[in-house]
Amino acid sequence: MSRIALFPGSFDPFTIGHESIVRRSLSLFDHVIVAVGQNSTKANLFSLQQRVSWIKEVFADTDKVSVSSYSGLTVDYCKEVKARFILRGLRTSADFGFERGIGQVNKALLPSVETVFILALPEHSAISSTIIRDIIRNGGNASQFVPDVIKFDK
Ligand code: ADP
Repeated sequence: MSRIALFPGSFDPFTIGHESIVRRSLSLFDHVIVAVGQNSTKANLFSLQQRVSWIKEVFADTDKVSVSSYSGLTVDYCKEVKARFILRGLRTSADFGFERGIGQVNKALLPSVETVFILALPEHSAISSTIIRDIIRNGGNASQFVPDVIKFDK
């Protein structure tokens, strides 16, 4: 049975921190699906289509990673794509508090799925999509925080 992991998130935009988590997880899983969630409570800066197409470009070098989007519960999407693992990244203790809640509820909803956490590299711990959106909204250059293929139009 192949080990498929789902890496769900908003990825608004996808950062070098996200990329690192996915690439480092490839020694654990046969296939990783980066799944861009359509979350109606979040106001996004970049369209769903733009986010998906950037992430596809980031992983154009490997067929172990695919990219899709979904709406609804993450556990329902896990069933749909036959993922037995949910992959998440941890930067700080604040991330841990938040992720523990989601992870425990997901476990109650779908016991067959395990959430697997990978620690952010120290140099990625301060990088968040929120900060990048702030830089962009204020006319700054955020290119050092995102994979090279992601180019923001000025
Ligand atoms: P969400 O809207 O679900 O929080 P994000 O796109 O913000 O989605 O993050 C998706 C996952 O990536 C989360 O598990 C988050 O903790 C993790 N993550 C975010 N930024 C980084 C980073 N710089 N390094 C490692 N993991 C990160």
